[in-house]
Amino acid sequence: MTSLSNLPIRDDLRGKTPYGAPQKTVPVALNVNENTHPIPDDVAADIVAAVANAVHGVNRYPDREFVELRESLARYLGHDLTPAQIWAANGSNEVLQHVLQAFGGPGRTALGFAPTYSMYSLLAAGTGTQWLAGPRDDDFELSAETAVREIQRVDPDIVILCAPNNPTGTPLSIETIAAVYEASRGIVVVDEAYAEFMPTGSPSALSLLPGRERLLVSRTMSKAFAFAGARVGYLAADAAVTDALRLVRLPYHLSALTQAAAVAALAHSDEMLAMVGEISAQRDRLVTELAALGYLPHRSGSNFVLFGGVRDPHATFQSLLAQGVLIRDIGIPGHLRVTAGTEAETTAFLTALASLGHADE
Ligand code: PMP
Repeated sequence: MTSLSNLPIRDDLRGKTPYGAPQKTVPVALNVNENTHPIPDDVAADIVAAVANAVHGVNRYPDREFVELRESLARYLGHDLTPAQIWAANGSNEVLQHVLQAFGGPGRTALGFAPTYSMYSLLAAGTGTQWLAGPRDDDFELSAETAVREIQRVDPDIVILCAPNNPTGTPLSIETIAAVYEASRGIVVVDEAYAEFMPTGSPSALSLLPGRERLLVSRTMSKAFAFAGARVGYLAADAAVTDALRLVRLPYHLSALTQAAAVAALAHSDEMLAMVGEISAQRDRLVTELAALGYLPHRSGSNFVLFGGVRDPHATFQSLLAQGVLIRDIGIPGHLRVTAGTEAETTAFLTALASLGHADE
């Protein structure tokens, strides 16, 4: 049988492993930071009607500039954004890939602060961009001083900030983001995939956009919006940036069905986001109860919690799986990550974990 190493694959991809969160059918899946609440029935009916209508037009290519979707996203984001400042693609992973294709590439570097979202280094590899992993402060925080020092040291072409950060949940202050922008000469991407789970009133990097033409704020409908399966991510930036991204996207990259579904969902933003408060409450409950069980949960502004104090993460992961609860071993020694689910799912996780006995580290 042919193995990967026998193929004439690019040298820079040799030995790399693909993104690999396990996909298993289990009663309680809390491993990939999805919104575990299904979308409301009346919204689902509207989306189905919109998609059914769009089907009649699929003999033609879809709107290459996804104008209606851009209008809907600009309206949703607010901050006086115009449709020309919005970009969208099949998940924010594809949005980030477009950014690296347009602004990274061979001979260029992208800097992130580890541990951070594992797809950044893979997207960098796929686009021939050199990935640089900078440090964080204690407890996975990222101060302006630490970030700026690293930017001055490595002078990256692109900086990717994850706010709040996956897999640690750590919020990022608007001051750090502003300082990173001032210190860098290149593109600064703020990945706000989990922004809706931050406490109400928390400032978004969107508020920094005016006058900062190198700043890009990426978002997704996969998390708070409960739309992961539909694959819609987006970005807000200067109109010149979105124009640049048109150079690297495939023509008609957003299908007519995707565009119709997303526009219909965005027309019901309030209902789609109705469970965000409940999810954040379950996240806070996880932090409290994990600590009570003797684990060391980290501060989280997202819909998941990273917790330390796990003596054997692999064994704990497997024992939970045996009880039908799938969480995530993200490879940080002594740590596991769990997504905040419904109240019942969160209870199932906490009960299964408690049944394993006390944390002992
Ligand atoms: N950014 C971060 C920080 C994420 O955690 C994820 C999903 N796990 C994504 C981007 C990508 O999400 P999507 O492609 O579904 O929009």
